[in-house]
Amino acid sequence: MQRVKCLSLMFLLWCLPIERGAIAQPCNVVLIFCDDLGYGDLGCYGSILNRTPNIDKLAAEGQRYTDFYSTSPVCTPSRASLLTGCYPRRVGLHEDATGHWVLIPRSRRGLSPEETTLPEMLKAAGYATACVGKWHLGDQIQHLPQAHGFDKYFGIPYSNDMQQAGRGDPPLPLVEQATVIEAPAEQSQLTQQYTREAVEFIENHQREPFFLYLPHTFPHLPLHASERFLGNSRNGRYGDSVEEIDWSTGEILDCLKRLGLKDNTMVIFTSDNGSNGRNGGSNAPLAGAKGSTMEGGMRVPMVVRLPGVVPAGTVCSELATTMDLLPTLVSFAEGKMPAHEIDGRDISSLLRGESGARSPHEVFYYYRRRQLQAIRWRNWKWHLPLASTFPRWNDATFKSKGRAGKLIDLETDLKEQVDVSSNHPKVMAKMRVFAKDATQDLGNEAEAGARQRQALTLDHSVPMVLP
Ligand code: MG
Repeated sequence: MQRVKCLSLMFLLWCLPIERGAIAQPCNVVLIFCDDLGYGDLGCYGSILNRTPNIDKLAAEGQRYTDFYSTSPVCTPSRASLLTGCYPRRVGLHEDATGHWVLIPRSRRGLSPEETTLPEMLKAAGYATACVGKWHLGDQIQHLPQAHGFDKYFGIPYSNDMQQAGRGDPPLPLVEQATVIEAPAEQSQLTQQYTREAVEFIENHQREPFFLYLPHTFPHLPLHASERFLGNSRNGRYGDSVEEIDWSTGEILDCLKRLGLKDNTMVIFTSDNGSNGRNGGSNAPLAGAKGSTMEGGMRVPMVVRLPGVVPAGTVCSELATTMDLLPTLVSFAEGKMPAHEIDGRDISSLLRGESGARSPHEVFYYYRRRQLQAIRWRNWKWHLPLASTFPRWNDATFKSKGRAGKLIDLETDLKEQVDVSSNHPKVMAKMRVFAKDATQDLGNEAEAGARQRQALTLDHSVPMVLP
């Protein structure tokens, strides 16, 4: 009897460290971030053209969001939000200071080193970190991924269409850490290369917590796919590139399964902004496209899987945003939040499918460049009346048409056509208060916000890293 007890005790002692270790290690994170993938481009969001079985399976094993927003309908501001948990205007990346909306090659601007980023917070919590793909938050050394908390970087530093010789753009560089390894990059190979690098990173860091950020280059124009996928979809080159991204997702999911990491890895799949609505992309059933503050420009697909935590096969219709991923992931990692204020909110209760869980956002602001164009509160969306819809406040020669305001009920009018403002004076009164709050806090057009942390004129006079 004594011997049995002793053996039982030994067995318990043998089991405990493993069990404790399994519980103590925070979950890994794989964040797949497409470029210009529209709301209607995936099978699990209704596409009947693009075949996306791996992403659809991810949604079936996890949670799919119907009202998930990017903070901007274009690349740079959207990415700034994802990595800082703030509206772009708060971190000074809502537009470039040179008249461009996004950063262009050799820009002297980039994500400020003063900001605390998601990878920095996860790194501080003991994570290995990698960015594999398109960066677009500055191409000088102090703006590249390693300066913002990524141990590893492999990819292109900005959009794949930024090769205007007349503007002085260099051939599109493929960068490893801070070294150009190919120029111009062979775009048809990018998704394959990203996938190999991603899988290798997971394999190399399988015994420690890791954060893999995989911002794909496609389906941003110009569209490319490798030989295996080119011409194989039912949706031209757009479908080819989307189906290659689906294959890539499958490779990563297979790798996690093969290494026994499936149950302890949160996989998130989303997009930086809507599709441009041409060349095969779809934002259906939403109206509008990339570049606009209509739903099709900023509402994006989002699926997340974490077995045992995120209930499988669920759909969440609460409002959530790319800004929320920072506080949510830092909370899962048991990391430390930044000391300064952020706009993102922890959506763990939504992810866990807790009954009665509600969006942590009372209100959501749609900015286009420096202009507040729309506000969402509950099911209501107010398109503000605007004197000009494409403001270049420092360009006196620029003229554009204004527009009348309208209040939309998103529950019944996803096409955003019918103005119901006259029927809802209380909603309109609430919206005007929100507009005033946003203007005071974040700024609006030429008016600076009281709590913008980074000014638009940020200018680092240092040598540029890329040729
Ligand atoms: Mg984009």
